[in-house]
Amino acid sequence: MAAMAAKKMSVKPSRKASEKRARSEPTSSKKASRKQVKRADSGLEPDPKRIAELLRRLQAAYPNAECALHHRNAWELLVATILSAQCTDARVNLVTPELFRKFPTPQAFAQASLPAIEEEIRSTGFYHNKAKSVSGAAKKLISDFGGKVPQTMAELLTLPGVARKTGNVVLGVAFGKTEGVVVDTHVLRLSHRLGLTRAEDPKRVEEDLMRIIPRDHWIAFSHEMIHHGRQICVARKPKCAECPLETLCNAPDKTWSSH
Ligand code: SF4
Repeated sequence: MAAMAAKKMSVKPSRKASEKRARSEPTSSKKASRKQVKRADSGLEPDPKRIAELLRRLQAAYPNAECALHHRNAWELLVATILSAQCTDARVNLVTPELFRKFPTPQAFAQASLPAIEEEIRSTGFYHNKAKSVSGAAKKLISDFGGKVPQTMAELLTLPGVARKTGNVVLGVAFGKTEGVVVDTHVLRLSHRLGLTRAEDPKRVEEDLMRIIPRDHWIAFSHEMIHHGRQICVARKPKCAECPLETLCNAPDKTWSSH
């Protein structure tokens, strides 16, 4: 894979979307009429037109949404994604420059002691397990895949520390391949709020999303949902009055509703 330029993502909703939202800002009287809205559809057979509109608005709001993890190649992305479990991408991005300076290749990771790797990744949390995963993945890469990151989900899942979320990130971002939909904490939460699934298990959520989202949208959809989850549809108090998806959303925990 051609080396990818490392870059920090900070995608803002587009100007057009912001203007549209500004026009629909609630008045004080609207604020006073905050209400809880029951989910209208089953989450099992979403209206294709609603899905198409949802995708259109997400794309308009986050036209350049990409993976926020800094990396220069598929191996670095794999490591960064393993480190991002239970940790922010921003924290991972603080750690990886020095980590990849000390251990620039899978071979270097495979030869490093676990304490040496742990020392570098301590601040990302769960560093004992993450060091084992990264070290194990490096060794497996060398023994089974010629030192190169494999390009199928089945092969990626044989690497220690790699589950479908990491596999989908690597396949989609590093190789432009769509074998599934990335389901992280943001995609999970937003999929429930938007009535796209009722499942709790990430694998079942992914299956629901793969069924209702057209395949050619899978990669962008994940990135857009993650950015929307970080900026607007946050966990505790979603900013519904600013949300470009508001008229399509019947989440029971909306903080403001126009309908
Ligand atoms: S309207 Fe509110 S709950 Fe629904 S997607 Fe937007 S921010 Fe999230």
